[in-house]
Amino acid sequence: MQKKLQEKIAQFTDAKTIKETGLYPYFRSIASAQNTEVIIHGKPVLMFGSNSYLGLTDHPYIKEAAISALKKYGTGCAGSRFLNGTLDIHIELERRLAQFVGKEAAVLFSTGFQVNIGVLSCLTGRNDFILLDEMDHASIIDGCRLSFSKVIKYGHNNMTDLEHKLCTLPENAVKLIVVDGIFSMEGDFVDLPPIVLLAEKYGANIMIDDAHALGVIGKNGSGTASHFNLTSKVDLISGTFSKSFASLGGFVASDHETIDYIKHRARSLIFSASMPPATVASTLAALDLMVNEPEHIKKLWDNTHYAARLMLAEGFDLGISESPILPIYIRNNEKTFLTTKFLHDAGVFVNPIVSPAVPADSSLIRFSLMATHTFAQIDEAVDKIAKAFQKFGVTALKEVPVKS
Ligand code: PMP
Repeated sequence: MQKKLQEKIAQFTDAKTIKETGLYPYFRSIASAQNTEVIIHGKPVLMFGSNSYLGLTDHPYIKEAAISALKKYGTGCAGSRFLNGTLDIHIELERRLAQFVGKEAAVLFSTGFQVNIGVLSCLTGRNDFILLDEMDHASIIDGCRLSFSKVIKYGHNNMTDLEHKLCTLPENAVKLIVVDGIFSMEGDFVDLPPIVLLAEKYGANIMIDDAHALGVIGKNGSGTASHFNLTSKVDLISGTFSKSFASLGGFVASDHETIDYIKHRARSLIFSASMPPATVASTLAALDLMVNEPEHIKKLWDNTHYAARLMLAEGFDLGISESPILPIYIRNNEKTFLTTKFLHDAGVFVNPIVSPAVPADSSLIRFSLMATHTFAQIDEAVDKIAKAFQKFGVTALKEVPVKS
């Protein structure tokens, strides 16, 4: 390798440093389905670090649908949606998703990340403005970069700050407010009603990334706009299938004209191969379950309330979470890695989250619930976390109850 690049790579020592301490927590190899219990190095480990909120990745109905599609359509589409890669089931899924979130039309992308980079970069350009919540997901930030638009961040759910920023912008400019529906690390909901009022007052559009809200809130899990009864006021709703839908891929929904524009302009759609058949069929089957079996969402919320109550009783600091994403704040990187390793060795999988995913003083372990967890599994995990906190001297700070 050329020397300059080699030197640059050698300067990256973050991962090496953690590996040397024996606390490296990333790329752990799992040898089973993403259930509430997974197999790691031959041992059972309780999974509390998954985004499969409804616990559907191993569901027989979904697996059967995937197998049938695999048999009928083969393993891949060998091309982009734009050219040879559109199957009848892609179109069916788009129709069903549009109906699900209450919009006229939808278009699929091969990942949720590709939705944000494709949609933001084609909807906005050099003379336009994107307004972002400071806690928005990385894929939204990257979409903004690709759009070359002027990006303005406002404080997390801080409507005074949003208005302060909006009122300085030219009246006739394109202004797009982009927010997560449920914030991926903090676990709280976007404060949508005042955003709608501000968007109307200042002539802005709204896009919600509902990656963590679909399957979790709103009618049958149809997301944030539905939860607030504001679907008609939100211009674009996007989502991913890598969480509650137990699969992979993403979509954006809006009016016919906007979706048609995106279909002909979004580069991450046009220049990338389409979702494979088994993945499309899995997503359709997961959507069936969301709509026809509300018990999954109910159980997810029962588990969430049960876990939050236990944790608050233990004095854990859950920040501002209102959802199945429970960030347990440690606010110290070393203790966060020590706790993660202790829990891993004790048979509990959680994700350590440190800067830049969260601000430098906000490191945490991200504990996420699935509908399929049992209360006994939650008891065991909370007990082990409490033991870890005692061992490493983690002290709790505040108590904010989780609401549905
Ligand atoms: N948006 C948000 C809010 C996310 O949390 C994620 C994934 N963590 C994505 C988009 C990207 O989704 P995908 O995994 O489908 O690429």
